[in-house]
Amino acid sequence: MVRTRLFLHPTFDCSFDKVCRDDCYLLKDKSREEKKFRLPDEYWINIVHLAGKHGFQELSLPINPLRGVTGVTDPLHWLRILAPIAKEYNMLVNITTTLDVAKKITASDTVDIIALSIDDFRTGKDWKRYATKLSAETERLRNLGIETNCNLSYNPGTEIQFLFNSERKKELMKIFDYTTPLWPKPLKEADILTLASGRLIQKGDRNGSTYDDLIGKTDGFLEDYCMSFARGESSCDAGWGTLSIDAFGRLAICPYSAHNQDVSTPDKFQDYLENILPKNKIIESCALIDVE
Ligand code: SF4
Repeated sequence: MVRTRLFLHPTFDCSFDKVCRDDCYLLKDKSREEKKFRLPDEYWINIVHLAGKHGFQELSLPINPLRGVTGVTDPLHWLRILAPIAKEYNMLVNITTTLDVAKKITASDTVDIIALSIDDFRTGKDWKRYATKLSAETERLRNLGIETNCNLSYNPGTEIQFLFNSERKKELMKIFDYTTPLWPKPLKEADILTLASGRLIQKGDRNGSTYDDLIGKTDGFLEDYCMSFARGESSCDAGWGTLSIDAFGRLAICPYSAHNQDVSTPDKFQDYLENILPKNKIIESCALIDVE
């Protein structure tokens, strides 16, 4: 049963810009001026009301640490105005963020699920120290009743550091409720080893000892749903079970797809929900996760 999800990205501002992966789906190709763009808070409030009225069951928010170029300096600004509205409609609130931002979350933020992103360089040089901090934070969040997950950006470096290394893998499984190895998209543009690994998995060939982790068969691991779709294990709900809106008020069928449908006013979003969404077809393939 698909849980219908609306991803909102109210800002392109991010202090991890250029620190994090260069191919960030959110910031890719955005100019300095574009990163300052901000729609009024009322717009986002109306969007969540409309999603709730149309039966959406989950609000997903990526929460970036901010530089403040839009005038907003608190990364929880949008969460704190939108989560109470989502809750009026019994929507789950699911956020993806960094360890430092997660530390600011309190019970009153009514967050249900938090995913923290980990990759082979963001953990710094001292994994033990970072793991201790992560562990303390996920324990605090669990005590607030929040499911805490890890988005492990897949590349050969993270595979070696976290999946081949059985001690670290056990640590990840202990620290987090679930770990999802996330494949870069478009996968075809990834480095040659990542692409080769993705190709093996999509052909159903074991790519070594990490295979079960990558397809979510290991306890505590979930498969990237795009990879699961590419392997023919599940359907993709983009465009009917998932929608995404970027900071310009442009809509896409999923967070990784091109945001090019103008829904920059609540009326336009309502029109989309009522007249376009019901006609969206289930996609049969996706160039973003294809390897050939
Ligand atoms: S459309 Fe492609 S990238 Fe988007 S969720 Fe589906 S498989 Fe993943």
